[in-house]
Amino acid sequence: SVFARTDAVEPLIHSYITETREQAMAQATAVDAKIMRGEAIAPLAGIPGALKDNICTKGIKTTCASKILANFVPPYNATVVDKLAAQDAVLTGKANCDEFAMGGSTENSGFFVTHNPWDTERVPGGSSGGSASSVAAGQAIWALGSDTGGSIRQPAAYCGNVGLKPTYGRVSRYGLVAYASSLDQLGPITRDVTDSALVLNAIAGYDAKDSTSINAETPDYTKALVQDVKGLKIGLPKEYFGAGIQPEVAASIKRAIDQLTAMGAEVKEVSLPHTEYALPAYYLIAPAEASSNLARYDGVGFGHRAPGNDIIEMYKKTRSEGFGPEVKRRIMLGTYALSSGYYDAYYLKALQVRTLVKQDFDKAFAEVDILITPTAPTTAFKIGELSDPLAMYLQDICTIPINLAGLPGISIPCGFVAGLPVGMQIIGKPLAEATIIQAAYAFE
Ligand code: GLN
Repeated sequence: SVFARTDAVEPLIHSYITETREQAMAQATAVDAKIMRGEAIAPLAGIPGALKDNICTKGIKTTCASKILANFVPPYNATVVDKLAAQDAVLTGKANCDEFAMGGSTENSGFFVTHNPWDTERVPGGSSGGSASSVAAGQAIWALGSDTGGSIRQPAAYCGNVGLKPTYGRVSRYGLVAYASSLDQLGPITRDVTDSALVLNAIAGYDAKDSTSINAETPDYTKALVQDVKGLKIGLPKEYFGAGIQPEVAASIKRAIDQLTAMGAEVKEVSLPHTEYALPAYYLIAPAEASSNLARYDGVGFGHRAPGNDIIEMYKKTRSEGFGPEVKRRIMLGTYALSSGYYDAYYLKALQVRTLVKQDFDKAFAEVDILITPTAPTTAFKIGELSDPLAMYLQDICTIPINLAGLPGISIPCGFVAGLPVGMQIIGKPLAEATIIQAAYAFE
């Protein structure tokens, strides 16, 4: 079982901040009873999975891997948690991540580092590193992550999983602790594309509690599980195969594309000319929104509170003790970018770039059905290897533009380089999750 696996590997991998075994056993027993009574069960009934620890679970600690929320127990469930519970899915625990989802390696967790099951000297990616490692190590059958700039797809790539970031607004963000609200989206990390479709079925849909939720019908994504890519028009954005991409990674993707061509897909090169500006725009927009979202952790309403003689001293101490270095860096960057006099020069400019990035995709999608790129420029790197924050930020060059444009993207395994999994990213038009699932399924 997943628990036997956790007993065996958790000391090496460190996927979980909190385990919920007792509750899981009770949930599983309840499903057994339903089966014994001859009742119909949902596709995920009794299937154990993990949640990234920035997803609110009623009565279960939700820390965002931050000392400032080390003992925070939410009084309510995120919408996705209720939806999974409605299918009787079983919760194994809350998975480690970068603090407040800020990072690309899970080394920024305020508690401990998670290790990659393929090579425990390497990172699992991030920020949903514990979600990806739990699935890769067999400690969970599925997991949910959140993706603001790549945090579902990149760890899925490094751990050899399937990771799907839906269209912005496709899955409710209610109860997902906000990092950058205009970019955040929840989605599944699974072993294969079939499971990805099943979990997406469970969590997608309109939610009145999330004002950015899209009010559109949710298809049955398992209908897209057909092996047929004949006539599918695939674009390869040339900007994603050049400098900065490890040649062996690009070669793996090219081999997969040859397979698609052999199956009858039509492949052509396209250009997304503003790609190089996406990363700098993201690192203004995301920290700006984060600095605003994280203002609520002041020691008053919830979370850690440091003693102080007056309220200002209390605020200052609480926040300096509670937040780790990367979170502080983002808060400072974001506060600066939003400050009066600099707003036009930085934040507004970044929003204009965001529009140009989005328009690049619109133009490309006038000609093709999907785009294919590497998910990350390299395979999983060594723990401690990228100590420079800018080098870490560059790991997301292939995933960030997709969040800026609000598009759906899936990362699927695409071979190995030196024993480490490579991820291939398939990007779709808005709400075209079914199309990218179908293209991904060609490789199952
Ligand atoms: N690595 C990126 C960041 O640090 C993306 C994180 C994410 O998607 N949550 O912002």
